[in-house]
Amino acid sequence: MITIKKTRTSRALKDAVEQLSGVDLSICFQCKKCSSGCPVAKLAKSRPSEIMRQLHLGAGDELLASDLVWMCASCETCSARCPMGIDVAAVMDALRRLALERGAPKPEGDVPLFNRAFLKTVETFGRSYEIGMIAAYKLGTGKLMNDTEKFPAMLKKGKIALLPPRGSDRKTVKRIFRKVKASKGTKA
Ligand code: SF4
Ligand code: SF4
Repeated sequence: MITIKKTRTSRALKDAVEQLSGVDLSICFQCKKCSSGCPVAKLAKSRPSEIMRQLHLGAGDELLASDLVWMCASCETCSARCPMGIDVAAVMDALRRLALERGAPKPEGDVPLFNRAFLKTVETFGRSYEIGMIAAYKLGTGKLMNDTEKFPAMLKKGKIALLPPRGSDRKTVKRIFRKVKASKGTKA
């Protein structure tokens, strides 16, 4: 059973998520198809359908500390499976944005660091560059040797490339990042 404690941030959170994601939270009828397809739902303390329900019922900013918000892999399976066409992945994205903006407690682990490393490589190279991202992530965690045994196999199978990606429009991507930072008042 989901228990919701109404707080002064309840209404504001629902409105903010709807505005950022473009999703009408009220059309979710709790079929749970999003949860049954979610690859990380079994590992997290809450499931996508529960997050949807909690938002709809008026959960406040405490929802921003849910581990699923940061464990979500943005695979969009939930959005593809929803019979109502609800973009659940966009809701998760909106929650992550709001969690950062409102300084919600970070989950255990290094997921926010991973997200920052990913965005930094996209900003620098114009698209994802796995080795750059892995290096930034490992330096941030200090766990330099974790999982390195998988590296040769991934390299051999072409899953990761040694050189940065070519052909991306770096100038345009950098301009997008500058605009977003300017709109948020953060440093370029
Ligand atoms: S699949 Fe869609 S309608 Fe069903 S619970 Fe998830 S968000 Fe709600
Ligand atoms: S986008 Fe996130 S919440 Fe949706 S199915 Fe994928 S991991 Fe789960």
